[in-house]
Amino acid sequence: MSYLNQNLAEFNYLKHLVLLYGDGKNPWTKERLKYYVAHLCNDGKPDDWLFDSFLFINTKSTSGRDYVADINLGKSMSGEGDFFTICSPNPANKLDWENLLDFYFGEDGALSTLDETIKELSGVITPPQSLRNVVLTLPYPHITQKEFGILNPNGKILNFSVTGQNLTQATRSRLEAEIWFVERIVDLWSKARFSNINLLGLYWIFETVYRSWEIDDHFLLKELRKHINSRGLKFVWIPFYATYNFHLLENYKDYYFDIAFLQPNFLFYKNGKCIEKAVAVAKKTGAGIELEYYMDLDEPISIKNEKHLRFRKYLNAGVTHGYMTQSACAHFQGVDSLEKMYHHPDPIEREFYEDIYLFVKGTYQAKPYPPVPSGSYFIPRKRVAISIDLGGTRLRMGVVDALGKVIHYRQESTPKTRQEIIDRIVINVKEGLRFAKAEGFKVIGIGISTGGRVDFENGVIVDSTSLLPDWKEVPIKKIIEEQINIPVFVDHDGHCAALGERSFGKGKSSSNFISIVLGTGIAGGIYVAGKLLRGTSNFTSEIGHISVDPSGPKCSCGSYGCVELFSSGSGIERWAREKVLSGVQFGNVKDLSAKAIGDAARSGETFAIDLLKSAGEKLGVAATGLVNVFNPDLIIISGSLVELPDIYFQAFEETLRRRAIRPTADKLEIVFSDFSQDAGVIGAAALVFGQIEYDGCQNNMEQPDNRGGADD
Ligand SMILES: [Zn+2]
Repeated sequence: MSYLNQNLAEFNYLKHLVLLYGDGKNPWTKERLKYYVAHLCNDGKPDDWLFDSFLFINTKSTSGRDYVADINLGKSMSGEGDFFTICSPNPANKLDWENLLDFYFGEDGALSTLDETIKELSGVITPPQSLRNVVLTLPYPHITQKEFGILNPNGKILNFSVTGQNLTQATRSRLEAEIWFVERIVDLWSKARFSNINLLGLYWIFETVYRSWEIDDHFLLKELRKHINSRGLKFVWIPFYATYNFHLLENYKDYYFDIAFLQPNFLFYKNGKCIEKAVAVAKKTGAGIELEYYMDLDEPISIKNEKHLRFRKYLNAGVTHGYMTQSACAHFQGVDSLEKMYHHPDPIEREFYEDIYLFVKGTYQAKPYPPVPSGSYFIPRKRVAISIDLGGTRLRMGVVDALGKVIHYRQESTPKTRQEIIDRIVINVKEGLRFAKAEGFKVIGIGISTGGRVDFENGVIVDSTSLLPDWKEVPIKKIIEEQINIPVFVDHDGHCAALGERSFGKGKSSSNFISIVLGTGIAGGIYVAGKLLRGTSNFTSEIGHISVDPSGPKCSCGSYGCVELFSSGSGIERWAREKVLSGVQFGNVKDLSAKAIGDAARSGETFAIDLLKSAGEKLGVAATGLVNVFNPDLIIISGSLVELPDIYFQAFEETLRRRAIRPTADKLEIVFSDFSQDAGVIGAAALVFGQIEYDGCQNNMEQPDNRGGADD
């Protein structure tokens, strides 16, 4: 099967249907409708059409009585399980239903206003090829309504309840009222003689089909649909995501409805089901997809940011899953959201206005998700990640909160053997858990940043360098998860550092940057168009193994003269030793560590100054290649070598700026990370938060439990 295709002649070329919520007190004016009928330029002038179909929905009459019933969604709010109809204690009666007809068909009613709006815009924009579609909502016949009213002069007062009659009689009364309402619409429409709109169908406002000892909506809908079809109209439904509704969708065209859109519930409910799952059901059952925009742009910022991210996902999924151009789509936009977006001072909101327009046109292209905001809104602060940063020299552990702040920290020397490393990681994780428990934090995941090549999907250390000689073919994710029942994510240390910069650091505002970690070795991460490059096997960003001297010493990777052999912590030491062995004079030959060389350079030792300068130059040569290839606007330096004297970094930057292609180099900024030695720990935490937030189909994404305030 496929989606409910868009652009079908039988549905008058329905593509994108916008839901227009209203109430009798706030009529639709041309001024308000134009935001949905046309796309407006910055100066307010219309330059293109927008939605092709319009669904008018009122939930209450002007006297405050209900047109719509509630659904009991159960405790989960996920739309699973025992939901039943909750009819209103204040149900609309016949007068209220007539009041709704007046809202639709009155002199300045919604329909004549829409017709006029399209007519006026057709003088400015090339008229659309087909009439714009209208769908009108039928009020729900509440079973709490015992005195609906009299429909014909000889009739009696209709009773929708099972009080004083059986279920069949109650259901027939409800059906009679609905059919009367349909007939009124058909009659009023034919008299109105609109010239720019087509009455496509009628909308059933209740989001499931329910039957009990007092309600029989199955019978009601089957009969009502026959009547609607007999008038040449379609019956339209937008159920929410629930297995019960999927079962109804399977045969919906045979029994109940002509057009159905599945609402993924991704924006509002606690366990936001993945769009992907809704897409699968829609394709299986021949339904369309409903997109949900955030309801109220004046909500507290914490909710707004969460919804921004989710809405971006909705739009992007429309491209990746094809519903933007293949499926009929419904657009739930709350009340006046599009108008508010258009005028919004926040550029993020304004951008959504343009993106919705492109989406409706079918030319939107997926955009990167916004970086995790510094006050991460999916995951309140009291949730933490435990991070392990395994370097060639040091093993670090941190407990990191959702704002990227390290709230507990330990470090020790890296053990030499594989088993010792694993043992120490477990001991450190347990220490992090102890701390988190004592402080009342919830650990949502464990992130491991490690040297060596990592099979990211499976959490396996595939291979390593001489810096971690016994660190190969280690299924570290499996090993840790078996001992500690918390999800573990593992990545290359260079990737982790870049993820940390993007989420919490200097990379927040850049989509194209290179993170370089200078420690015992040299690692890095490359962001292009907002995405971390992972390559075929996640083995990207091995910046340390860019050769800067083809006839240089052999590297553990198999190549020769890799920059890591000269410019990293171990490389500076190796190079110093080589020079000393070749007879160069240096005051203290016992300690040739990068730190000692740095200290010696600060005290004016010529040998150390020259060595650091050369090491910086080699790094500059390697970085020149990267900059020329990837054209970043930012390089972020982190790692233990940030403690080295300026001479090293001056040589690096000077070489890079001199050698890189001019316009590229001119636009480039080079900065130190805010995290210095914490880059790995913060990066491993960003890995955890990122995986659980964005890819968490099965991770039951929960809403923040402190709505309205990120700082608890
Ligand atoms: Zn190498």
